[in-house]
Amino acid sequence: MGLLTFKGGIHPDDGKRFSKDQAVKPLLPKGDMVYPLSQHIGAPANPVVKKGDHVLKGQLIADAGGFVSAPVYSSVSGTVKGLEQRFNPTGTKVECIVIENDGEYSEAEYEPVKPLDELSREEILEMIARAGIVGMGGAGFPTRVKLSPKEPDKIDYIIANCAECEPYITADYRRMLENTKDLVSGMRVVLSLFPNAKGIFAVEDNKKDCIEKLNQVVANEPRMDVKALMTKYPQGAERQLIYAVTKRAINSSMLPADAGCIVDNVETLIAIHNAVINGRPLTERVVTVSGDAVETPGNFRVLLGTNHRELIEAAGGFKTEPEKLISGGPMMGFAMVTLDAPVTKTSSSILAFKEDVVAKNPETACINCGRCVEVCPSRIIPSRLADYARRQDEESFVAMNGLECVECGSCSYVCPAKRQLKQAIGGMRKIALANKRKK
Ligand code: SF4
Ligand code: SF4
Repeated sequence: MGLLTFKGGIHPDDGKRFSKDQAVKPLLPKGDMVYPLSQHIGAPANPVVKKGDHVLKGQLIADAGGFVSAPVYSSVSGTVKGLEQRFNPTGTKVECIVIENDGEYSEAEYEPVKPLDELSREEILEMIARAGIVGMGGAGFPTRVKLSPKEPDKIDYIIANCAECEPYITADYRRMLENTKDLVSGMRVVLSLFPNAKGIFAVEDNKKDCIEKLNQVVANEPRMDVKALMTKYPQGAERQLIYAVTKRAINSSMLPADAGCIVDNVETLIAIHNAVINGRPLTERVVTVSGDAVETPGNFRVLLGTNHRELIEAAGGFKTEPEKLISGGPMMGFAMVTLDAPVTKTSSSILAFKEDVVAKNPETACINCGRCVEVCPSRIIPSRLADYARRQDEESFVAMNGLECVECGSCSYVCPAKRQLKQAIGGMRKIALANKRKK
């Protein structure tokens, strides 16, 4: 059978060779731990601890601020230093709980769990919500909300996003190889919420070892299957993934559930397993540390709240002072302004590059080559939309389907004039979406 894919897309150097063969190493932090109250889409969490309180690893420190929100747990034992404004990985100062790590990792007592087949749908959803789980691939949408569509019986597919199409990042790759059973267990939990759904592990075919391992583990799971995707960026973008797997198309005004699909990424499914099967809240994740400025790139199991500086130290430090630091992938990640920012629920990687290639290549005029149109997976016209964005012409931008942009950056990547198309379109799109919500 041919490989599943979508129209458009690009084939950048994947850079995964730097870290893919490095097994996940646990990293125990030394410094203070910092927990932003907002690590998710929705209302910020509300602190339930105060300066001077002693806390345990796995203890609730901030409770969900509403239905679309998520609680935050301490990942260490120690003393609360207070509520402070600190940088998050995207370079914004936000309200954070700061905890002095006592280095003992004394753990809270957790409630005993019942076997999965004795739990009701509501109990499972409540356990996922209480554990603080959000979309850990980067979106940060509270998982309980995603798993609560209006008509659960109409969900046909639970798609595990195992594409990991962003260059350099290998955290999901290592998880798929090293924690295959936990990943499949997370899928089993989600499938128990949707009686008519099939679970699909959708993996890019550059990870043949993961496909093989997953096929072995799901061999006796009649409701699960593994599908190979063409290796192409942005194969892991939600809409492109759904189309590749099901040939169902969604647009910006639809949810995946409208097409009978729910998509969860690898780290999220493992967190669901930990919450529902082991009764543990979300306190850690795997993070890739890579890029040509890093001495020994690798993958680390990191306690949430750990300073990024400690991750770089764990990877042997910098070979040379990097010109560019990125939280997340090089295509859709955020330029970091400081290493003094904590790992959050959505931090999949930190990348450090010797050169800032974008800053060294100033934009020139469009030569109308059409390459941006050819690669755009949303089938829109990036060159024209960027012009509308620069003129702040919101009406024309919306009329020309600017809201359908998935901000993948493929257009900027291929543009010979080095136009910052994604940045221009993405900025206008946020304004247009905000105005649409107001109406
Ligand atoms: S216009 Fe948007 S969706 Fe299309 S290639 Fe550019 S960033 Fe990606
Ligand atoms: S790729 Fe760049 S130069 Fe070519 S049409 Fe698009 S914006 Fe213009």
